[in-house]
Amino acid sequence: MKKNQDCIECDFEGNLRASKVVHKYKESGLDYITLVGVEEAKCPSCGGIYLHIPNQHTLHDLIASVLMRRSGVLTGREVRFLRKQLVFRQSSLLNSSSMTRRP
Ligand SMILES: [Zn+2]
Repeated sequence: MKKNQDCIECDFEGNLRASKVVHKYKESGLDYITLVGVEEAKCPSCGGIYLHIPNQHTLHDLIASVLMRRSGVLTGREVRFLRKQLVFRQSSLLNSSSMTRRP
């Protein structure tokens, strides 16, 4: 997202209306995660909304860490979240180093 300018939905050119909001982070796959103070930019022309979530990888690592330390049974959504994080971390490690995957 370009910071506070230009809408990619309707080609509006100008400053989007920015504000800090409380956001239910359903995009994570976990419907109980709430982010406070997330920057939201709204297009005055079409109403398109853009969220800026800084350090998203760190946020997902933190969520995964909390899930893994929590006692009790994980839900299906939590298992899917952890699996996605694991796959992401494996591919990041392979892409950022000279390591190659064995066939
Ligand atoms: Zn727009």
